[in-house]
Amino acid sequence: MAAASPIASPAATPSARLTDSHGRVIHDLRVSITDRCNYKCVYCRTGELGAQYPELAIEEYLRLIRLFVDLGITKVRLTGGEPLLRHGLLDLVRELARMRTIEGGPLELALTTNGHLLDSLAGPLKAAGLNRVTVSMDAVDEATFERITRVPGSFRTVLEGVRAARAAGLTPLKINCVLLRGFNDDQVEGFARFARQEDVAVRFIEFMPLEEGRLWTPAIVVPLREIVARIGRVLPLVELPAREPSETARRYGFGDGRGEIGIIAPVTEAFCGACSRVRLTSDGKIRTCLFSQVEHDLYGRMRAGEDDEELRAYIVRTVQGKEARHHIGEPGFLKPSRSMVHIGG
Ligand code: SAM
Repeated sequence: MAAASPIASPAATPSARLTDSHGRVIHDLRVSITDRCNYKCVYCRTGELGAQYPELAIEEYLRLIRLFVDLGITKVRLTGGEPLLRHGLLDLVRELARMRTIEGGPLELALTTNGHLLDSLAGPLKAAGLNRVTVSMDAVDEATFERITRVPGSFRTVLEGVRAARAAGLTPLKINCVLLRGFNDDQVEGFARFARQEDVAVRFIEFMPLEEGRLWTPAIVVPLREIVARIGRVLPLVELPAREPSETARRYGFGDGRGEIGIIAPVTEAFCGACSRVRLTSDGKIRTCLFSQVEHDLYGRMRAGEDDEELRAYIVRTVQGKEARHHIGEPGFLKPSRSMVHIGG
């Protein structure tokens, strides 16, 4: 695709604001661009299922994302499945970097990846206009890492990817680690040291009932308080102020100011009241919550010939109905029909 000047849509009006019926302003869109993945992380996938849903053409994602941006979205995170597997990714990032928010500024562009292909793609992604990446790593010990991903050699490959991303300037660089009791909870202290050595922000994430198989129980979740207490015993922590109200992570710095850890605690300290997100699946369905029981077929309407105005009205109505909160751990809780890898984490 040829480069040109930044694109501001004629439909964009600074007064537009995507809000839900609970008064939350939605400004963060997560877009899955494939549900294929080259890892089979034991807590995420069974290892038997492949991709389950179709992918759209890059131009189709661009048209759908543009509609959300016209309605006030300022941040777009590309995810999957594994987004680096997606053909056309660099074109997509290049075009997104040219889009303008309704205020006229560039979008904040991020991507979540397992890092396996990042060594070669970090530089081109930065050149295409990506601002930053989050890399998922569930252990800092090589053997544990590879037991989780079920891919030999993955630890070294991802480490090189992380270093390439930092060298390319895809910063601040975040590392996501999902902790599961009995699998990798012995990695907590090692990750704190890793954050300092590699100059990255490590985010521990509580495990949610979004796996393909049946693994989740309340007992397997390693709660925020336990993580903070354990790290604090080896390296003194200082809680850092939130940078924005919708920030999902509780952030902590180390006593000497080098490195950072954060904890995302959707299970034990849910942050639904400050949620600013909606999701678009790889097949073009809107999900207003990770735990939604219904999906909204935006792409189907586009294929049926609705124009941009009709599609924007549909997005506004759909977002209005965003769930107040999730019900993890409550009686009657139902897992959504799609697991994390097929929704887009
Ligand atoms: N393949 C990319 C990656 O590995 O980052 C993007 C997709 S992956 C589904 C996104 C994130 O979701 C990863 O950090 C992964 O660890 C996390 N994740 C997967 N299943 C989860 C679960 N049940 N609870 C919490 N996080 C989960």
